[in-house]
Amino acid sequence: MQNITILGATGSIGKSTIDVLIRHPELFSVFALTANSNIELLLQQAQLCSPKYVVIADPNQFKHAKKLFSDHHQLSCEVLAGDEALELVASAPEVDIVMAAIVGAAGLLPTLAAVKAGKKVLLANKESLVMSGDLFIQAANQHNAQILPIDSEHNAIFQCLPADFKYGELCSSGISKILLTGSGGPFLTSPLSDLHLVTPDQACAHPNWDMGRKISVDSATMMNKGLEFIEAKWLFGLESSDIQVVLHPQSIIHSMVQYLDGSVLAQMGNPDMRTPIAHALAFPDRIESGVSPLDFNQLANFTFTEPEADRYPNLILAMQASSAGQYATTTLNAANEVAVDAFLQGKIGFMQIAQVNEECLQQTSPHNLDTIEAVIESDNFARRLSMDVIRNLSQPFIQRVGS
Ligand code: NDP
Repeated sequence: MQNITILGATGSIGKSTIDVLIRHPELFSVFALTANSNIELLLQQAQLCSPKYVVIADPNQFKHAKKLFSDHHQLSCEVLAGDEALELVASAPEVDIVMAAIVGAAGLLPTLAAVKAGKKVLLANKESLVMSGDLFIQAANQHNAQILPIDSEHNAIFQCLPADFKYGELCSSGISKILLTGSGGPFLTSPLSDLHLVTPDQACAHPNWDMGRKISVDSATMMNKGLEFIEAKWLFGLESSDIQVVLHPQSIIHSMVQYLDGSVLAQMGNPDMRTPIAHALAFPDRIESGVSPLDFNQLANFTFTEPEADRYPNLILAMQASSAGQYATTTLNAANEVAVDAFLQGKIGFMQIAQVNEECLQQTSPHNLDTIEAVIESDNFARRLSMDVIRNLSQPFIQRVGS
């Protein structure tokens, strides 16, 4: 029996994780569930999974959460609140596995706490690696933490690599290239001239995947693929030139590894995050996930194309930031979180997300990020800068729509 903490239990990945876990009560028991503020869903999940602890990250919700949970006498879990509590349930000695599924930079410290406690970490929070890749990998090595990728692409690559693959050693493992696939999002074929009119609901309506709103917008701009490009470099020790981004709109192949002899190994499956979650939970065994099997008689065409730079400027920015170094990827991640939030609130247009990101990168000088404190300071600086850039946009969104 393995004890698991789910950071970000009330999100899309958190809910899928619980769906897989409750199919295997003989294998897993839930130690802690965490949310930011969605207390009602957290309560329902606690009734289903009987955790020892629930954590509400937003301390302002603590009283309300305490009252709601104490009204349900059959629940014996303790209610905690705040950032320290997140780190506590991620690193507690009773915990074997931590699902790191908080969205954004808020996931960094609790995920690192799990890493430093030497846990098996199922990494959905790609932002941890984008913000602090070198420090994160060093900590994992130093504390013998096992990092298993949850992003479907990285999980696919992991499954297609040789079992004895050594970090960064592509050539001696017989590998020539990593093929990182992406669907291209909902606007793959929309006229470029219409993209500035895209609304938040349109951007969040991904054709194949059901995800949280932030990652859905990132998928539409392909910033998500850019963050995954950076994540792949850190997870597997790759150079930029080792990775090729390939558009595959059907989202059936989740990524591929090309070998020196011309063989290409692909991992396929229906687009459902329960597959990589079940794979990582049970690794190296296999368990049932609830995902329906692929029906090859029903699959139409598989197509592959190259992403257009004009359509996906965020992808290009992320690749450039990756070459520029840690300060640039941390800056880009923070700027993008602020810009996506502003877009979701209707304050800026869809194509202005990339404009804000680019201006933030241009206005940031290279600096060293050799401690987590420096990473957080750099993240905070980029957030303030991004807000300034949004305030000073030469053509405010409202005027553009009205014109
Ligand atoms: P969601 O937005 O659906 O869920 C986010 C979770 O994080 C919720 O539990 C939310 O709580 C919690 N949360 C939000 N802000 C904070 C905060 N400041 N402090 C603590 N907890 C917080 O996100 P997803 O599940 O879609 O994504 C989670 C992570 O997984 C992201 O890093 C994403 O990139 C990655 N990922 C997601 C995939 C997907 O298919 N969804 C695929 C691959 C990777 P509350 O509900 O209370 O707001």
